[in-house]
Amino acid sequence: MITLALSKGRIFDETLPLLAAAGIEVLEDPEKSRKLILPTNQDGVRVVLVRATDVPTYVEYGGADIGVTGKDVLIEHGGAGLYQPLDLRIAQCHMAVAAPAGFDYLRAVRQGSRITVATKYTAIARNFFADKGVHVDLIKLYGSMELAPLTGMADAIVDLVSTGKTLKANNLVEVEHIMNISSRLVVNQAALKLKTAPIRRIIDSFAAAVGSATVPA
Ligand code: AMP
Repeated sequence: MITLALSKGRIFDETLPLLAAAGIEVLEDPEKSRKLILPTNQDGVRVVLVRATDVPTYVEYGGADIGVTGKDVLIEHGGAGLYQPLDLRIAQCHMAVAAPAGFDYLRAVRQGSRITVATKYTAIARNFFADKGVHVDLIKLYGSMELAPLTGMADAIVDLVSTGKTLKANNLVEVEHIMNISSRLVVNQAALKLKTAPIRRIIDSFAAAVGSATVPA
């Protein structure tokens, strides 16, 4: 049995065509079913639905053999013990620093001021500001980062930006582009050794579907 960990929403929806390219069809709609384990048209393949931030953990500890997760989630997790063969180029967006239109971010950074930044992505934010030599106090949040500068709790945020509508709706402007983000295929290294043929088949089908070369294990 091959177990594939996915999160509901954009990653699930954008992985479906890749699964189809591998001849795998998920037999239930996660938006309609309350099941956490979804069967597929192949007896030897099932999908487990987990929170996006839990995908690397399920794959690391063998709760799933393979998974699809964002580069942001992988960096925050650390990616220990995970084989990352493929950039699937799905769920594309970018990580950015954003601040209220009235906050002179560039001046604060130029003057070497200490700034307070709220984010869910503390590892990415810490590395980014350390590389720039900017002094930051990070506040860890789990959602709605946009609210932090609006309530005076932080000068800026580090968050994912897709269309930019969320920033605009909250009167925030992007002041730095940190990195492009897309979703990756992650594989449990022990599972790859034990179930090489079926896992390779999925990796190769996904690679052909997205037109990417795989990274050797
Ligand atoms: P947008 O308004 O389209 O720029 O989307 C921004 C909001 O969606 C922010 O709250 C982000 O945290 C979230 N978001 C955007 N892209 C992604 C993604 N690929 N994965 C997870 N969350 C995302």
